[in-house]
Amino acid sequence: MTRGSWPCLLFATPLLLGACVARGPEMAADLVLLGGTVVTEDPARPQAEAVAVRGDSILAVGADHDIARLAGPAARRIELHGAMVVPGLIDAHGHVRSLGDEIANLDLHGAASVEEVARQVKERAARLPPGAWVTGHGWDQNLWPGRTFPDHRPLTEASPDRAVWLRRVDGHASWANRVAMQAAGVTRSTPDPPGGRIVRDARGEPTGVFVDNAQNLVAAARPPATRDQIKESLRLALERCAAAGLTEIHDASVGPEVVEAYRDLADAGRLPLRVYLMWDGIGDARIEPLVEQPPFVNYRNRLTLRAVKLMIDGAMGSRGAVFEDDYADDRGNRGLLVTPPEEIERRAELSMRKGYQVCTHAIGDRGIRLTIDAYEKALAAARPRDPRPRIEHLQCVAARDVPRLKTLGIIASMQPSHATSDMDWAEDRVGAERGKGLYAWRWVLDAGVVLAAGSDFPVDPERPLVGIHSGVTRQDLKNRPAGGWHPEQKMTLDEVLRAYTAGAAYAAYEEDRKGRIAPGLWADLTVISKDLRAIPAADIPGAGIEYTIVGGTVVYEKRQEAAVP
Ligand SMILES: [Zn+2]
Repeated sequence: MTRGSWPCLLFATPLLLGACVARGPEMAADLVLLGGTVVTEDPARPQAEAVAVRGDSILAVGADHDIARLAGPAARRIELHGAMVVPGLIDAHGHVRSLGDEIANLDLHGAASVEEVARQVKERAARLPPGAWVTGHGWDQNLWPGRTFPDHRPLTEASPDRAVWLRRVDGHASWANRVAMQAAGVTRSTPDPPGGRIVRDARGEPTGVFVDNAQNLVAAARPPATRDQIKESLRLALERCAAAGLTEIHDASVGPEVVEAYRDLADAGRLPLRVYLMWDGIGDARIEPLVEQPPFVNYRNRLTLRAVKLMIDGAMGSRGAVFEDDYADDRGNRGLLVTPPEEIERRAELSMRKGYQVCTHAIGDRGIRLTIDAYEKALAAARPRDPRPRIEHLQCVAARDVPRLKTLGIIASMQPSHATSDMDWAEDRVGAERGKGLYAWRWVLDAGVVLAAGSDFPVDPERPLVGIHSGVTRQDLKNRPAGGWHPEQKMTLDEVLRAYTAGAAYAAYEEDRKGRIAPGLWADLTVISKDLRAIPAADIPGAGIEYTIVGGTVVYEKRQEAAVP
């Protein structure tokens, strides 16, 4: 993981440095970061003060006075005032479009009246392309005078020509305007569907509020997103990720239309971050036409598609994750296979033969074991050159299966903040004994397995500082519980940082290009306002991001809140 080339070690001695600079402008840096605490994750030089960047690569790492002399006449100089520079942080498992859709939706949490909602709807409606629906979420009539369900009229007035569809805060009811109801063909003669209710007035007319399954009547009428809408969602999400300090996302399941949207953005130079894509091979998906297309790597210096996402079981929260034994809080239930193990094996083998990496969502101990078994067989049959199969989440692993991860070269792609998001109920599901293997990244690291960290955003926040905090403390953002939940699984700060950098880079076959700060590697850097090693762990989530730099381009900077290309 740490092999790599060492071109032109400019900083080796001041004398040599002088000679290199004197050679001509071709060696000059066009960006220098000075006066920082640079944590390189490079054993050859673990810490430095400054970094010089030329084009999209790191030119040199070293002491301030040496790096300052590399700056060309037009170079940008960034004074760091002690801020911490780490290799560009990577989220190894996120859902970019879902995050973007959330951002694009009106956020109505806390709206204090129907009028306030209507005002926001009117504003949004004025800015959308023709035919697009105004969508939103988070309204709660309990915050309004009268506390009664609203009806369609304020929304119909705010947006007479365009459909409006707003989900309630709990997701169990939605609120439509007249255009949305017309688009769905809902009238007074539409019956309530099983498990759902159309709220009606005294004359039997639908009021505009749809409860539980009745929501599908209107939701199904929404037009599919256009390419431009998908692009806008991706762009909004990536902008948010850049502000969080991320330089790369592994997008965990995309269809062909999303891949095309990404390509458009890359062609237009509008992808601020690197994105590593996984084809959506979940459930009934037919992966044959997907893996028939050859993988591509580093398209326009931003985009790679060389992985397939599979899913063997469900999630623990809804008791869908598959276990060898019953759920401790639901006797007789052992979860639900989303994809049969033979089919995981078949898809894995096919993907490997076509040059794709396989990434399988597996959460329960049996789901994980069956995935390891399937990988073992697929690897033996396909004999791929450098497969690096991944298990996504690995949330409740049996101790005896951990060494097999190492033997088979399986990467653990885990989300530190899931531990602290789930800790209030996770052990109820599995009991104390199995609970030892919950979010067991200490076991994974001690077995020598590569750990790649992520967030599964928008399930958890996209902010890596939140995940780093969970990884180090096993505490949530309120610092609960004291001492941490299952503190025996804590990671050191260095270990978490490596999981967000070198580990995630290896999981994307990028260890020779990023994951460390060293000459010749991509200039992907995250600048954190404070040195995380010098502050109390409780302050990590709020430490702040100063700059995000991808391929030598500043894609986020705190002071101006701008500069996304
Ligand atoms: Zn996910």
